[in-house]
This record gives sequence, C-alpha cells and structure tokens, in this order.
Amino acid sequence: MPTKTKDKTSATQAAALILRIVNSNAVERLPDSDRYKYRFKVRSESSGSLYLVSWDDAPGACWWTCSCRGNISHGNCKHLKSMGLMGRTIAKTLPLNDPRRMLPGRPTY
Ligand SMILES: [Zn+2]
Repeated sequence: MPTKTKDKTSATQAAALILRIVNSNAVERLPDSDRYKYRFKVRSESSGSLYLVSWDDAPGACWWTCSCRGNISHGNCKHLKSMGLMGRTIAKTLPLNDPRRMLPGRPTY
C-alpha cells in the first residue's frame, strides 16, 4: 500500500512541504495568531484581489481556509485547490487528527 508510506511523513517534512507552498504562492506573509497558522496572502489571477489563506488550528476545525467568497460559501475554493490544500469540506471527511488534512499536494476534491 504505497499511500501508507506517504502518510508517515514526519512533522519536519510536513512543515517543509507547507513552507514550500507558502513561499511559492505568498505575496505577503503574516505572523501566526493563536488560531491561524501559516497565514499568507495570495493574489487572485482573475481579479487581482488579495485573499488571506491560513491553517485554522481551532479545536474542531483543522483545515485550510481562504478569505474569498467561494471558500466561505463552499468550504473550498480555487485558491486552495490550486495549492493542493484541503478546505473544510474535504478535510471534514477525514478524522480530526489525520495529518493528511494539513499536508499539501493531496487530492482536494
Ligand atoms: Zn479562495
């Protein structure tokens, strides 16, 4: 089962994967808050608007979030999808403590 090996990604490797995504997409980085980690802004290709993307670390959340209307309405959006990050709609299909919820590069829909 090849997926099993992938899921053993260490915390350090996970952080490196996430930082690679952040660094290649962020137009601006913001400091972590108590609830939101890896906060960064991305620019919409269609409108030029900036959206804030972050990991929602609240108990009962544990998914990636984006400030755009699509994500607010649907729990996923083109910005998260393009980076391989799981919005709440997909993350909720996995157990709360499943490390795959945070890892980039997974199927997001
Ligand atoms: Zn979005």
